Amino acid sequence: MSLLAGRVAIVTGSSSGIGEAIAHELAGAGAAVVINSRSRERAEPVAQAIDAGGGRAIAVAADVTDSAQVAALVAETVQRLGGLDILVNNAGAGFIAPSERLAEEDWRRVLEVDLTAPFLCAQAAGRYMLERGRGVIVNIASALGHTAMPGRAAYTAAKHGLIGLTNVLGTEWAARGVRCVAVSPGYVATELLRANMRRGGFDESTLERRTPLGRLATPEEVARVVAFVASDAASYMTASHVQVDGGWVAYGGW
Ligand code: NAD
Repeated sequence: MSLLAGRVAIVTGSSSGIGEAIAHELAGAGAAVVINSRSRERAEPVAQAIDAGGGRAIAVAADVTDSAQVAALVAETVQRLGGLDILVNNAGAGFIAPSERLAEEDWRRVLEVDLTAPFLCAQAAGRYMLERGRGVIVNIASALGHTAMPGRAAYTAAKHGLIGLTNVLGTEWAARGVRCVAVSPGYVATELLRANMRRGGFDESTLERRTPLGRLATPEEVARVVAFVASDAASYMTASHVQVDGGWVAYGGW
């Protein structure tokens, strides 16, 4: 029996990067998956690729910072796929700027996508899951949810907040059958990281030198951990944080 056979999952921001890999991994483990993006045109090819590979996926457009669109995303999932068992809060945005020059607009945009949106999605999905007494919410946090770096005030504050939110939801909903777990990647070669490298003036070799495993993660290495924590194999994990960072946070050297 596949790890996630018969389950229905939403993966936010899954038209690219880590989210796309998570969608493929969950589908490969037997789940029917909702590919979410702000644009249906971007989500559709990922859903089609999963279908072509023998899995089941649908594309649903929604801006996850908008509560009405989030409610519609959950409703459409339940209506078309017959339920909702797993929510992966993956959509995210990064930004690097000196704190004294960080524009209020950029602070608010990053907090909206990286913290408010996961709450809105967890609330909408949680209402459905709590009624049925089962469900799993996986929050994609970051190494910067556990430690800090100069120039990353909004992103670091949001990801620390996401760890706090994981702790609250994981403890608040535990007795009612809904688990909440954070998965914190280190550095993964995606568009988000490439944009950060351009803005932050660092490159892959800097990251490889600082990472005990000596390389970046692949999106699939993060996705496999998400599939595990979303499954019943991880049934005693809630309000937990799993670092998939090649040892980056633990390492105190140069
Ligand atoms: P990415 O830019 O490839 O993917 C992020 C996705 O979120 C994009 O498809 C984007 O369109 C989508 N998105 C953004 N705002 C949205 C909105 N309002 N509604 C719906 N979708 C929206 O980046 P990624 O690296 O794959 O990032 C995925 C997650 O992993 C993020 O939460 C990020 O913070 C986290 N993360 C990434 C790294 C890394 O090194 N790449 C490290 C740690 C954590």
